[in-house]
Parts: sequence; C-alpha cells; structure tokens
Amino acid sequence: MMTAAGSVIFEERKSQIHRKGEKPFDMNCNRESLAGAVSQRACVFCGSRVVLYPIADALHLVHGPIGCAAYTWDIRGALSSGPALHRMSFSTDLQERDIIFGGEEKLYRALIELIDRHRPRAAFVYSTCIVGIIGDDLEAVCRRVSAEKDGIPVLPVQSEGFKGNKREGYSAACKAMFRLVGTGGTEGISPLSVNILGDFNLAGELWIVREYLARIGVETVANITGDGRVEDIMRAHGAALNLVQCSGATMELAQMMKESYGVPFLRVSYFGVEDMAQALYDVAAFFKDRDREIVGRTRALVKDELLKLYPALQEFKKDLCGKKAAIYVGGAFKAFSLVKAFRLLGMKVVLVGSQTGTDQDYRELHEITDRGTIIVDDSNPLELSSFLKEKECDVFVGGVKERPIAYKLGVGFCDHNHERKQPLEGFVGMLNFAKEIHSSVMSPVWRFVPRRKARN
Ligand code: SF4
Repeated sequence: MMTAAGSVIFEERKSQIHRKGEKPFDMNCNRESLAGAVSQRACVFCGSRVVLYPIADALHLVHGPIGCAAYTWDIRGALSSGPALHRMSFSTDLQERDIIFGGEEKLYRALIELIDRHRPRAAFVYSTCIVGIIGDDLEAVCRRVSAEKDGIPVLPVQSEGFKGNKREGYSAACKAMFRLVGTGGTEGISPLSVNILGDFNLAGELWIVREYLARIGVETVANITGDGRVEDIMRAHGAALNLVQCSGATMELAQMMKESYGVPFLRVSYFGVEDMAQALYDVAAFFKDRDREIVGRTRALVKDELLKLYPALQEFKKDLCGKKAAIYVGGAFKAFSLVKAFRLLGMKVVLVGSQTGTDQDYRELHEITDRGTIIVDDSNPLELSSFLKEKECDVFVGGVKERPIAYKLGVGFCDHNHERKQPLEGFVGMLNFAKEIHSSVMSPVWRFVPRRKARN
C-alpha cells in the first residue's frame, strides 16, 4: 500500500514501522519475516557464522550445499593478529546423492581430513537448512571425531537456516561457545580483567579498544570473537568482567557466564565519542575499588584523545550541518551510537532500523531520535527505497545488501557492516567515520543524479 507520505508499505508490515510523533510508541519486532517481501535479514546459519567465524585458530566447516558457504570466503574484514584459518571457507558441498542417502559419512571424512591437514585448536560444524531437513546427527559425528582426534573440541552449531531468524543463529553460536568456556585454566589472570564480547575486529578495531583498556590498566583475557583464540575462550570465565558490545550476538553468552561462573557484564559501545568515553568510564567505575587510580587514568586518556579529535571534527561539521542520514544495520546497538555520532556532526537522522532489534532496543531508539524519524524493524528493499526518497536522504549507512539500494537512488553510502576495511571504533574511528561521511555526502557526483537534477 502507499501511505499518505508516499512510502510503499505492505499492509502486514505496518505494525513494524513507527513514525516518531505521529502516535504513542508501539511497534512489533522479532517476528518471522513476511513471505515474499525479500527481507534484508539474514538466515539462522548466517547469524551463527557472523559470530563464530572470526575465531581465527578454529576450523569452520559448513555442512550443506556449497551455496550456503559462498559468502564466507575472505569477504569480511575480521582481522587476526596470528593464525588465519578463519579466512578459509570449508563446506561439505552436499549433492543430491548425499541428500538422499544422508551426509554424515561425508561430514566425518571431511572433518578428519581437515583436522589432519590444518591442526586447528577446535572445529565448529554449522548445520544448514538441508541438514535440518535430512536429519543428519551432527552431535554424534562431532563426538566421534573428537574422540578419534585426541579430544579436540568439535562443536556442532545447530543453525538450520529455516528455523527462525538471524537472532536464532546468535543463540546457536553462544551455545556452541559456551561449551568451550570453563575448560581452561585461569591462573595468572589480573584482578582488573575483562573479556571483550560482540566485537569482530573489523579492520583491526578490537586492537584499538584493547589498547585503550591497557592504557587504563585493564587486561583483556579473551576477544569474543574478533581475533579470537580457542584457548582464550576456554579460560574466559577467569575474567572479572564481560564487556558486551553487540548485545544481540553475545548477550546470551554473557548471561550464561554470569549464571554459571558469576562473571558480571556491562553493555558498551565503542562507536562515537560519547559511547567510547562512556564505555571506558563504566569500566573504570567497575574497578575503582580495586585500583583507586583508574578513574584518573581514564579521564586523562579521554581528554588526550578528544583534544586531538575535536578540531578535525569541527572542520567536517561546517559542510555536514543540516544534512540528512538514514541508518539500517544488523543490530540495534550500532544504531544508537550512529544516531549520536551523526548528531555530533550536526546531521539529522531521519530513518533508523535494524534486522534484529528487540522491543527494548526500539524503545531506546524512540527516546533518542527526533520527531518525524522513521523507526523500522526487519525492512525490505521496497520500503527502504521509498523511505530514502521520501526523506530526501544525503547518506545511507548500512551493509552489503543496502549498498545497491543507495547507489541506485543516487544517495551517498557508508559501509558499517562486516565487509568494511576501515576501523570506525574508538576516537580514531570517529575521525575515520567523519571523513568517510564527508567525502560521500559532499561528492559532486550526486549533482548528476536525475532525481536531484529535477529537484534543483
Ligand atoms: S537459508 Fe538455508 S539454504 Fe539459505 S543460506 Fe541459510 S542455511 Fe543455506
């Protein structure tokens, strides 16, 4: 249907879209995607792979047809400081014959061969749609291989694509990782220590955050999962605190660690000036009884970084003030930080949405956005295109599936997903973000877009 504002919205999707200020906040989310609407959302298998795949010294084997594995190979920007087994894409490449007679034997042979060849610290075996349909017993095959290969952890990931939405995949990944936690020794860990959860080390971002933490005197035990190591995850229960960034992806693991090992957690974000500083202040506040100097050290770090950053941001702001931005990302945590980051650049966010936000996430977004902003859950290309046109956006922030929508409409684009090759976290990341938004929004090429030419 066509709304009064001129946007195209399917009747069944109306309850998942809210325009701030039109009526009291009330929107549906975390539902099955509408059949036929070509959701931007990824499948369960994709959700689990996003979380686990950056564990760099593990073997990642996709049990299914080759098509499911196509997106894994070297597209993503998750960097490793050591082993790079995660950049290899392995699949059992199930064929018609395997589907008729079962794929367990093929999986067993693939695992044995790959473990012999690559000597990984652990193996994750991802279930895809077809495996769920033919009923291969992943758990049994993994147990058999583990027993034959000196007890190396071989972990089934129950991520059949059809069994829910991307959030189910996050849950399957957390369950698989939790089987590793608690199996390693915790000796020598500092009382001022954290695990970093929900960061994927895109373009080396996690190293920026680790460096800030080290400067305020905090040890990082395990990176979960960017630049991840199996042994670190095995001893992660020895850390004093979990820092959860992508809460959609790793909150379940944090909760399981709290219940089983008493490790508390804090929700943080490393995107944008405000949130990065707040994350460090929250960590300092948590440890201040164990180290009275930590708050002072943290203030000094933030001041130091801001003194370097602010003059440069003011320059970009001169051109960007009043421009309009749209945000559509995987998880809502990133959307909060992006709204604040755009505000810092003097820009207005007119559309914000995510694939996997919860009721609480959207309520928070409603709180921090301006009147008239469209808030949307689990969108599709048709809706996004019409919102971008209706709001006359200058830039769209999204991922690989959103890029063509922006370019086809002649709108600037900023990649804020797992494919990006430039760090956007931390104070230095905010500067990169401002530079990228500035060069995209101010590019003279947009003057030649037919839609804009007609307007001018
Ligand atoms: S939906 Fe199923 S078939 Fe498609 S990529 Fe996901 S697991 Fe593979």
